[in-house]
Formats: sequence, structure tokens, C-alpha cells
Amino acid sequence: MCKLILGEDATVKKDPAGEGVWIVAPPGRRMKFINYHSLGDYLIKALENRSLSTESLTAVCQRVFRTRAYPGHDDSGKQAGIWVETGMEGFNCRQCGRCCQTLEYYDGCTIDNYRNWECLQRTDIMEWVRPITQDGEIVSCRIWVKPGTKHYAEICPWLRKIPDRNRYECRIHDVRPEICRQYPGTRKHAEMTGCAGFSMS
Ligand code: SF4
Repeated sequence: MCKLILGEDATVKKDPAGEGVWIVAPPGRRMKFINYHSLGDYLIKALENRSLSTESLTAVCQRVFRTRAYPGHDDSGKQAGIWVETGMEGFNCRQCGRCCQTLEYYDGCTIDNYRNWECLQRTDIMEWVRPITQDGEIVSCRIWVKPGTKHYAEICPWLRKIPDRNRYECRIHDVRPEICRQYPGTRKHAEMTGCAGFSMS
């Protein structure tokens, strides 16, 4: 993956202590130590700063999502991009509530979500949202912030256990934030975050 993003002429060696990697890559070609904790951010930044060919980006997608990816166009035929197989066939939410209790979703609310709640006059939801403003304009939103405080809720406040069943439901399911609609984006995402949606039981 490092070579795919940094270029074939980059040199990447594993640190013998298993803490990270030593990288020699442009610009500068100075040897740099990147620990495993920071490697993802380092590669994302490198990806933003390099203009990789569509073929290379496709190969990166295949590695990242551990699935098949193809260069192509969107349904309108106008926008070039990469199609990524999500592997989501067979997904079935078990309503275990794990995602709502354990995952980080603080920046997963879009401005459109916020505007929609405004339109619907869902002040009950909006009081758990902290809009971030710049020059008087909302530029992003944070969820779920305990009303009247600056503290995030430990678990999603809209999660409700169904009485007498080992299942949970979302009390704002119809108007839930974008991040909840999108989760899990791929089978790999589900597997990496402990989602039970592919388990056979
Ligand atoms: S962790 Fe997966 S199976 Fe469990 S509630 Fe969330 S989406 Fe559904």
C-alpha cells in the first residue's frame, strides 16, 4: 500500500521493533520513521498531495476495501470515478445496538440533516446538536452533545432497548443522521467495527 501511494521508487522498511515503518520517498527523499498509529494519516495526506492515475487509485481502493474496484463513470455518464464493490449482499441488521453504543459518530451529522430537523421543528433532536459556525454560517455539526453542556453523550441518546427482547431500536430512525444511514459502508467496515450484520445466527 505504501508503494502504491508513494510511488514505486519509494523505499519502505518495517521497523525491527515492530513499531512502524521507515520510509524514503519524495519530496526530499529523507528517511522518515512513521509509527503504525500515524501511518494511515500519513498515507491519506500523501494521497491528497499526489495525483495518482485512475489505475493506481483503483488499486488503492481494492486494497483499502479488500474488494473489487473498477474505473468508470457515474450513472449520468458525466462524472468519472471508481466503482467499489461493497460486499453488502446478505447484510441483515440484528438490532444489537453495538454500533450506536461503541462507535465514534461525532462529526457524522451533515448540515442537510440539521436543516431537515429545523424544517421538521425537531427541537428535541436539535438540542443534542452543536452547530459549528464561521462568520455566522453553520459549517459543520457535532452530535450528540448533552443539552446545556459541552460533553458528548457516552452512547447514542436515541437508542432504546425493546422490552423483553435482546434488541434495540432507534427512536429517530426515519430522520437519523447520515452516518447512521451509511453504516456499515462495506463488508470490511462491518467486520472491522464488530457489526453482527453478517453473522449467521
Ligand atoms: S452493529 Fe450492525 S447488526 Fe448491530 S445494530 Fe449496528 S448495524 Fe445492526
